[in-house]
Amino acid sequence: MSWLRHLRWKLFVSHLSILVIGIIVLLATAHFLAGTQLVPEPPLSLGQSASETGQVASTEQSPLALSQQERFQSVVDQGLLISAFAALGAAVLVSLFVSRRIVEPLQELTFTSQRLARGHYHERTITRSDDELADLSQSINQLAEALEQTEQRRLALLADVAHELRTPLTTIEGYMEGLIDGVIAPEEHIFAMIQQEAARLKWLIEEMALLSRAEAGQLRVMPRPMAFSTIAQHVMAQFQPQFNNKGVALITSLPPDLPDIVADPDRLEQILINLLSNALRYTPTQGSVTIAAEAHDFFVQISVRDTGIGIPAEHLPQIFERFYRVDKSRARQSGGTGIGLTITRHLVYAQGGEIWADSAGAGQGSTFFITLPVHDTVAAAA
Ligand code: ADP
Repeated sequence: MSWLRHLRWKLFVSHLSILVIGIIVLLATAHFLAGTQLVPEPPLSLGQSASETGQVASTEQSPLALSQQERFQSVVDQGLLISAFAALGAAVLVSLFVSRRIVEPLQELTFTSQRLARGHYHERTITRSDDELADLSQSINQLAEALEQTEQRRLALLADVAHELRTPLTTIEGYMEGLIDGVIAPEEHIFAMIQQEAARLKWLIEEMALLSRAEAGQLRVMPRPMAFSTIAQHVMAQFQPQFNNKGVALITSLPPDLPDIVADPDRLEQILINLLSNALRYTPTQGSVTIAAEAHDFFVQISVRDTGIGIPAEHLPQIFERFYRVDKSRARQSGGTGIGLTITRHLVYAQGGEIWADSAGAGQGSTFFITLPVHDTVAAAA
């Protein structure tokens, strides 16, 4: 009886059972008492008239008729009293049962949610029934799970931030101590190194501020119709010298009839800068990076493909998480923090797009895809 798993029906059945018990007891008592206490009147013999038997159908009632009425009254009273007690007893039993099945789990859920509110995120409820309370208990457990994971990420983030800030600071401190003690000669390249670490520290702090704004949903995005090729050419011009220096080819493959997209030019530029810096960082000399785009019905799909170190499949789902780096030591050497892609993803989402990465594996190159809405689609929707 699957319908009985609903609380609504359980409560209805329990109320109904009290009513049914009351009615059954009332019927049984009335039947029993009527049989024992109500004596049938003597039947009229043939030829006797009512006046002869002394039963007068007038306003005057016989003593027998009166006592029958009194006995009927008493039978009704007793029946009602007994059935009222039976219904009361049933109500007590049913409410004991209902409170065990409903109130106790509710108290347990309240206790668990209060413990969760106090920060005990490992707390879970145990589901004993299979009704709505079980669903509620399951939802509270899911909430607890999510809170616990968020807390773990928060702690990991704090540890990561502390580590990222400590590394350049320790380097600066070491050089300064060496300079003060005279162990290190005050040469130009030493000051340049200190300046580089200080610049990295500043950049890290700015990136983190941007990340926290992005995660709080406070990035200001002002999308407007624009041609992707304009931004692509602008960013490529910026990057060309760095690509030339490293000996990596920078190629574009944009169809001439690409429709306008709706995007914030500054934010789109930021996205392309992040993707191109990564592509350059993780592509060795003689490699190439290609920016391409293709039109679909409702969006334009942009891709940044490189022939670099690639990303092993098991790392692909995590690379957009903050501070995630596939090879921590290599990323750090090359100036990576693991924040860039997290910010990029927020920037893409804020403009109504999607972002994902693809790679055939280590050494096989990587491709980052972005979709952004086509101008006409947005106009049509508006
Ligand atoms: P980072 O500053 O470390 O590059 P990102 O968030 O931009 O941080 O990238 C996260 C990680 O994803 C990188 O540390 C790197 O391991 C991997 N990654 C990103 N882009 C590429 C790429 N084009 N080729 C190979 N690996 C990449």
